Amino acid sequence: MNIILLGPPGAGKGTQARFLVEERGMTQLSTGDMLREAKDSGTEMGKVVAGVMARGELVTDEIVIGLIREKLEGEKGGGFIFDGFPRTLAQADALGELLNDCGEALDSVIEMQVDDEALVARITARSTCGNCGEVYNDNTKPVPADGKCTSCGELAEFKRRADDNEDSLKIRLMAYYKQTSPLIGYYHAKGNLNSVNGLGDMAEIKTAMSDILDK
Ligand code: AMP
Repeated sequence: MNIILLGPPGAGKGTQARFLVEERGMTQLSTGDMLREAKDSGTEMGKVVAGVMARGELVTDEIVIGLIREKLEGEKGGGFIFDGFPRTLAQADALGELLNDCGEALDSVIEMQVDDEALVARITARSTCGNCGEVYNDNTKPVPADGKCTSCGELAEFKRRADDNEDSLKIRLMAYYKQTSPLIGYYHAKGNLNSVNGLGDMAEIKTAMSDILDK
């Protein structure tokens, strides 16, 4: 089963993808994570994208499609979760072709709906475990006082993303509404679209997602 998690920054795509990886053995493909990795390891491409990402703009279609192509050619597993990809209509078309070329299908697109106010509150309070990626929130799930991650149990460094600030977030939200939200209509027309309310209890959201995937 191959699925896309669609939604604005802070909608909870990464958190839900982690559940699906643990419970269903799927493979998460996050273009944001791939780009951050390239940036941190100082590759040529990483240097090119660093400024674009810091500003909150979208990296070129060519770069992100290339990253996904490499992964699809190299990895096989219990299905892919596309997290943060596609983000433009050109990327959506390219993904359809790439899946087709490797004999795979797109089974479901799950749109996670969260209003802007909640997104800003979530993102400006967010940090993640540098070891396993567990997500924390200053207000609802603070970093443990003993410095040990509640998920992996390691004494970890808890990191904040450089683009998780109000200025970048405004641009990231604008990019979502302008360039990515047209994908809602695109996948609706293809008959793949499902929506969940991304606000509220994490367990309830998880159940809503499972109901969609198991129907
Ligand atoms: P994310 O971790 O998904 O919030 O992505 C962080 C940043 O990486 C975005 O603000 C973009 O600058 C870039 N990015 C991630 N995925 C894509 C994509 N599919 N297309 C273009 N830019 C992307």
